[in-house]
Amino acid sequence: MSTRREITAHISSVKFETITAEKVSTYFGQNTFSEEIMKRRVPASVFAAFKNWQATGTQLSATEADAVANAMKEWALDNGATSYTHWFQPMTGLTAEKHDSFISVNGTLQIIERFSRNNLIMSEPDASSFPSGGLRSTFEARGYTAWDPTSPAFIRETALGKTLTIPSAFVSYHGEALDKKLPLMRSENALAASSKRLLNHFRETPVTDVYSTCGAEQEYFLVDGGYYRLRPDLQLTGRTLIGASSPKGQQLEDQYFGSIKDRVLNYMMDVERECYKLGIPVCTRHNEVAPHQFEFAPIFEKSSLAADHNQLLMDVMQKTALKHNLVCLLHEKPFHGINGSGKHVNWSMGDNEGNNLLNPGKTPEKNEEFLSILTAIIHAVWKHSDLLRASIASAGNEHRLGAHEAPPAIMSIFLGRQLFDIVASLIKGESIDNRTMDMLKTGLENLPHFMQDQTDRNRTSPFAFTGAKFEFRACGSSANISTAVTVLNTIVAEAMDSISDKLDKAKGKSDKKLFKILQEMLIESQHILFEGNNYSKEWQQEAQRRGLPNVPNTAKALEAFITPKAFEVFGKYNVLNKVELESRYNIWVEHYNKVRIIEAHALEEIVQTQVLPSAYEFQVDIGNSLEVLKDMASDNSIPLPIHAVDDRKEMFARLTEDIYQVRKHLHKLQDMLRVISLKDQVEQADYLYNDLAPHIERIRKHVDHLENTLPDSLWKLPKYRELLFNM
Ligand code: ADP
Ligand code: MG
Repeated sequence: MSTRREITAHISSVKFETITAEKVSTYFGQNTFSEEIMKRRVPASVFAAFKNWQATGTQLSATEADAVANAMKEWALDNGATSYTHWFQPMTGLTAEKHDSFISVNGTLQIIERFSRNNLIMSEPDASSFPSGGLRSTFEARGYTAWDPTSPAFIRETALGKTLTIPSAFVSYHGEALDKKLPLMRSENALAASSKRLLNHFRETPVTDVYSTCGAEQEYFLVDGGYYRLRPDLQLTGRTLIGASSPKGQQLEDQYFGSIKDRVLNYMMDVERECYKLGIPVCTRHNEVAPHQFEFAPIFEKSSLAADHNQLLMDVMQKTALKHNLVCLLHEKPFHGINGSGKHVNWSMGDNEGNNLLNPGKTPEKNEEFLSILTAIIHAVWKHSDLLRASIASAGNEHRLGAHEAPPAIMSIFLGRQLFDIVASLIKGESIDNRTMDMLKTGLENLPHFMQDQTDRNRTSPFAFTGAKFEFRACGSSANISTAVTVLNTIVAEAMDSISDKLDKAKGKSDKKLFKILQEMLIESQHILFEGNNYSKEWQQEAQRRGLPNVPNTAKALEAFITPKAFEVFGKYNVLNKVELESRYNIWVEHYNKVRIIEAHALEEIVQTQVLPSAYEFQVDIGNSLEVLKDMASDNSIPLPIHAVDDRKEMFARLTEDIYQVRKHLHKLQDMLRVISLKDQVEQADYLYNDLAPHIERIRKHVDHLENTLPDSLWKLPKYRELLFNM
């Protein structure tokens, strides 16, 4: 096994394959069974039936479904695929797949490739091994994956072969959602219905379709694979459980948007190439704030496709990293004291004409449709800020929320000056004056003048309006965005319906009636608007005065999913029923507990087997050197400083104290883990948050002190300065 030092020496000589750039448009989506390809490979009537299915929900006939399955199979075989799999997003937080070969035996016992409509439409993985959060005790354990025709099937390539991959939803025997995709798709329907209803108050031609759009900015860290393999904590938990700060961290702020290292750029281009083949439109790459932290951002798409693509992107990022002897860390907080990683979920709505419904236009004050949707969103976020907070709750994200570099656990909305002023006028019932956009002048005539953005940046806001979309910034980097988008879609659908209800009641829409409705809703919900610094202490106090919830504790935040208010809104829109919500809550709390318990055991093992043995070795070294010094001190001919022996004794005592403290706290940790096993899930979560987490920090403090005390040659675990600065 290589040592830290060998790995460090090796890194400087890493050679990488150069990537030949091709024009992206020539191969974009080549590994996807796109509508264009389907159109070429099925009879025109079948394609028309497929489109009609998407538009109206009229199912394909058996013959039509067979034709699609056959075309997909032929395309996959032509492209070298040998197997197929349904690909789904169970409640593990990861994606899941079970591969089957195309081969089958015909009547004359010959091997042939076969793939029928039944293979395409559904599959039955054994559901009993996926988390169901109690659904299983009430219902049968069977689960089915069902083809999602809105997300194109694709071919996943590895060095050894190719697999046709079919995006699918995962449902129980009785139709309960066992995954993250089905609720998202249901929430898309809810949003479509409510927004069509609202928009038809404003439009002459009826709106036929509305969908939400999403672009998720994906942050991540890269570390060298050699170091990673020497860090069991990273391998088992995705984050460093111990590690003294590097003298240089991110103080100089010299990493953000900095020049990208060749090894990293090479990796990024490799990821992009794979993404383009899969039809994932990644378009932005850059260095993030922390050392070795980066970001990919895609062009936005319809939310359910964007959610699939983000899951796939994370998979591509992790697999590609291995090819470069790198490891891609998606954990929200891999390094203590260094910025964590989030996933900014940019969210908006589009209609069948391709209009962005959150585009304020040049004169937002006159744009009644925009102002109504804006009001609906403000009201929704205010009324259900607890659900939004819960939608991003996880053990990993708990390290970010409320810490300095990440949005607090308090939800608030930033609108920017122009919209804030307009909303303030609406609230006061004043007429809204014309606001012209300012030109931004640099003071140099040889640089172009350009329009100032309608919104300034407020990096500290968890939910910010950024031009023509909202940016939900509190989402964690490893999260599946579906949950956040499902919540957003559902609560906004409810608020839009509430405007429609009031308009219907007012019988006939006039400007005056509309503005009165918006005014009332904004007065009720205005406390959610905050333009200031969300990271400040003052905001915490202010938010408390305003009655906004602030829940840093993950399991407590998740309780929002099992309130009567949640049952009502998710139930009304058929997104998640009470049983599904309760099962989700159970799964998430249990997951939180398991993560924290694994971390505790991993810490215990690393400290016992790697940290303490090195400390004992050093203790012996100092003990020996103390003996030598004492001998020499008794020899008056050697002029030692008078306190030399005492100094060495003190050094020995301090080291011994650290060792003692670590051991004492480890014993306590073992006791705590025993206590935990006797508690139920909710009590466990409480205990893990309030008692175990602070205790782990105590152990870490002493271990990190040891790291800075022991000789470099005795320390086995790669250090922060290596993980974060050598690549
Ligand atoms: P910003 O600079 O405000 O972050 P960008 O234009 O760089 O904005 O976009 C950031 C992300 O937001 C990208 O992934 C982009 O595709 C996405 N985005 C832009 N417009 C929309 C929209 N209408 N709906 C959803 N996402 C969007
Ligand atoms: Mg960003």
